[in-house]
Amino acid sequence: MSTSNTPVSLLDLEQPNDFIRRHIGPGRDEMASMLDFIGADSLDDLMQQTVPAGIRLPEPLKVGEAQTEVNALAELKAVAKKNVINRSFIGMGYSNTHTPNVILRNVLENPGWYTAYTPYQPEIAQGRLQAILNFQQVTIDLTGLPLASASLLDEATAAAEAMGLAKRVSKNKKSNSFFVSQGVHPQTLDVVKTRAEMFGFEVIVGHALEAANHDVFGVLLQYPSSTGEIKNISKVIADVQANKGIVAVASDLMALTMLTPPGELGADVVLGSAQRFGVPMGYGGPHAAFFATRDSYKRSLPGRIIGVSKDTRGRPALRMALQTREQHIRREKANSNICTAQVLLANMASFYAVYHGPIGLKTIANRIHRFTDILAAGLVQKGLELAHTTWFDTITVKVANKAEVLSKATAKGMNFRADLDGAVGISLDETTTRTDIDDLFAVLVGDNHGLDIAALDAAIVENGSESIPQELVRTSDFLTHEVFNSYHSETEMLRYIKSLENKDLALNHSMISLGSCTMKLNATAEMIPVTWPEFGQLHPFAPIDQAQGYKEMIDELSDWLIDITGYDSLSMQPNSGAQGEYSGLLAITRYHQSRGEGHRNVCLIPQSAHGTNPASAQMLSLKVVVVNCDAKGNVDLNDLRTKAEEVKDNLSCAMITYPSTHGVYEETVKEICDIVHEFGGQVYMDGANMNAQVGITSPGLIGSDVSHLNLHKTFCIPHGGGGPGMGPIGVKAHLAPFLPSHSVVGLEAGGTGEDLANNGAVSAAPWGSASILPISYMYIKMMGSEGLKKASEVAILNANYVAKKLEGHYPVLYKGNNDRVAHECIIDLRPLKEASGVTEMDVAKRLNDYGFHAPTMSFPVAGTLMIEPTESEALAELDRFIEAMICIREEIAKVESGEWDATDNPLHNAPHTLADICDSNWDRSYDRQLAAYPVDAVAKDKFWPTVNRIDDVYGDRNLICSCPDLDSYRDFAE
Ligand SMILES: *Cc1c(COP(=O)(O)O)cnc(C)c1O
Repeated sequence: MSTSNTPVSLLDLEQPNDFIRRHIGPGRDEMASMLDFIGADSLDDLMQQTVPAGIRLPEPLKVGEAQTEVNALAELKAVAKKNVINRSFIGMGYSNTHTPNVILRNVLENPGWYTAYTPYQPEIAQGRLQAILNFQQVTIDLTGLPLASASLLDEATAAAEAMGLAKRVSKNKKSNSFFVSQGVHPQTLDVVKTRAEMFGFEVIVGHALEAANHDVFGVLLQYPSSTGEIKNISKVIADVQANKGIVAVASDLMALTMLTPPGELGADVVLGSAQRFGVPMGYGGPHAAFFATRDSYKRSLPGRIIGVSKDTRGRPALRMALQTREQHIRREKANSNICTAQVLLANMASFYAVYHGPIGLKTIANRIHRFTDILAAGLVQKGLELAHTTWFDTITVKVANKAEVLSKATAKGMNFRADLDGAVGISLDETTTRTDIDDLFAVLVGDNHGLDIAALDAAIVENGSESIPQELVRTSDFLTHEVFNSYHSETEMLRYIKSLENKDLALNHSMISLGSCTMKLNATAEMIPVTWPEFGQLHPFAPIDQAQGYKEMIDELSDWLIDITGYDSLSMQPNSGAQGEYSGLLAITRYHQSRGEGHRNVCLIPQSAHGTNPASAQMLSLKVVVVNCDAKGNVDLNDLRTKAEEVKDNLSCAMITYPSTHGVYEETVKEICDIVHEFGGQVYMDGANMNAQVGITSPGLIGSDVSHLNLHKTFCIPHGGGGPGMGPIGVKAHLAPFLPSHSVVGLEAGGTGEDLANNGAVSAAPWGSASILPISYMYIKMMGSEGLKKASEVAILNANYVAKKLEGHYPVLYKGNNDRVAHECIIDLRPLKEASGVTEMDVAKRLNDYGFHAPTMSFPVAGTLMIEPTESEALAELDRFIEAMICIREEIAKVESGEWDATDNPLHNAPHTLADICDSNWDRSYDRQLAAYPVDAVAKDKFWPTVNRIDDVYGDRNLICSCPDLDSYRDFAE
């Protein structure tokens, strides 16, 4: 640009593709020097060297020109405005809620919370671990059961998981039947039926009180029921249990502040959605589900559990407990395939409980209940008939002309539950006002209804209310722990949230090079639309004509993803990658069935696969056959061929990952697909590594039939400390008719228009966690065809740069063509461990001292670290990370040579805390500066792990998954 006063042209001053250079870390000059260092002439040259010619896309993507942040936001706003935000009284598991603004801004809109990863490195994650522990405490207290898990994907899948647990623990081993009360939400029944069919269970639907008349291994009830009725279920629970059945109860946290908790009524499992604790409905999600059970079932519990253990100083410290139950270790024997699971939303719900406290929650619940009593009393007074006489917040009103009532409601901007015969359902919530009640009277009784809210209220105060049966009024305390009784002013709450945030390392501090997890930039412009009311306030079952903005956004995003993946059709329903796997395998199974080949039940999975692959296959009752990998980390083609041939009559599918989980573009991937197809199988390609494919190649082009996309990896949805996520699946045309459907909202197979009436649902909401889709939408819109391709190229450049910089210090385990890696690389610590005793765990924890999150540890190969820098990290940050890794290598050398003691060294004692450094009894043989400020870069911006290394064994032996009381802290010190 000219430095004189001569104006340059407007074109030079405008930077239409500004976002691309903001999203991509390295600038032009940096890229040039990195390319030079690794020995490539250009990005294009690097691609020629790295990606096999036979799978490169012949032409550019068709997602269009990159838009600026300003334009993309303006365009999406115009789309969002096509959503009509009516007042929702639909209920069915989704309620309006007031997200406390202090939580909205400081948690949901705060990268300190939303860009963190799942707390696998607990020493730098004590903040969110505490928030999740609080969530478990909320669950335990409100459900009345002693053991709770961290969070599940939604109420419907939690119910399906309860069925799985019931099968595992029930002593009624001979029964294959599961009873579901007709009082559960229709979408819950839908998801449970889908899951049951594939497990080979029979689902019996009937009246709740008849549950014990059947020979079943388990029962699902709902309390209060979907239509709002509250029944004493204690007898039916006891009767079912007398027949060795397990009883799960779906429930509602707000109702449980007033009702006797199902745990006290004898239930074995209590589950439900925590959405109404401050998480917007968001047209279906994301929301956290809660799940509680008996202590004795702890090894059967699905999903993550946060537990209290102690660190090397003997102080209490939190961590994920009993991980040996989970898919990454137990694989096809895991309790479930749950991986990413709504942590951010569980945290929001727990903060909601912390902020309101038990008294605040009771007040909110009582107000909701009183409004419901008033509404019911007014309607009855005017001669309307209710379907039942008990309720917490939901009544079912019998109406002669439902269509007329619904249209009157719509005219007033109100939505009622519309799927009941001869009745409408009305659910109230904490946002309900007197005006709402007045409007409800107007719609149901008439404009001149003459009902007086104050008079109705006075009558209730005088006469009492029996809408909650006396024997079911809650008498037990809840949320008595200090944490729920301390932070009720906004200042206190703000500081509490901040104090937890400070304990956690997230992307707003440093790069998180977790291989396979793609921790890239989650741009602010991508996040902004998530909290627009136009996206946040829609009920998932609102009439479709009110959701035209959503429809347009989802359709456009689907079209883009179809183009990017080379598939023909897409389903947005799955709420995580693992759910996508389940849905994809479900489509494959139904496809085989449709061709009279329902007996095909073998799934080939390479040794190196992610644990969710075999865990998902198990959910379809598929038999997993493991295929070997060769010395270079590639799928062993001969072994694949032999095994495929052996099982050819029963081959259902193969699940592969591309580039492989070893971080290599296998030359033979097309052949792999051909072999599987030759023997009648389908190819499932795990899409977690799409960040090395977008714009360069595609699953469809390679020859696969179905893939999930982790929108929370490649497409910029932040990980939220362990969720939310979205795992839509793309399929070739022949699988499109077998995509998930939904029992409440009719769905068509995207791209084909085919009606999906009977396939069954895999999530509670028709489009999964719809309200985070704007993130991926914005990303694609702001990157355009060109930017998306460039992102993949720079991801590969960054990985090759790191690999080449580190290879003189650590062996890089697998390489492909021309010694190139794909978008991630594995460094092998096993030889060092052998020589020095320093473990991969020591290296991971020592990285914390250097201000970094560890790369992925021991996946896909034990004793290694897998590094995925992503395209978003600039050269300076990569160099900082590399410097740390090289310094650590030098430290290992000192242990190896005997210069440092085998245990009295900074690697063994990592991470170091402020308490260590300030300890007047510092007695280590190395100095404090080396411990905490090993290099200059750290001294400038120190991140302090808040606890020392945590004792996993102690925590698993002494499982505590609730907030310890102050006394118990003393025990730890002993
Ligand atoms: C992340 C990942 C998954 C699972 O995705 P979730 O969204 O966590 O369920 C599956 N496969 C691979 C290779 C992954 O990296």
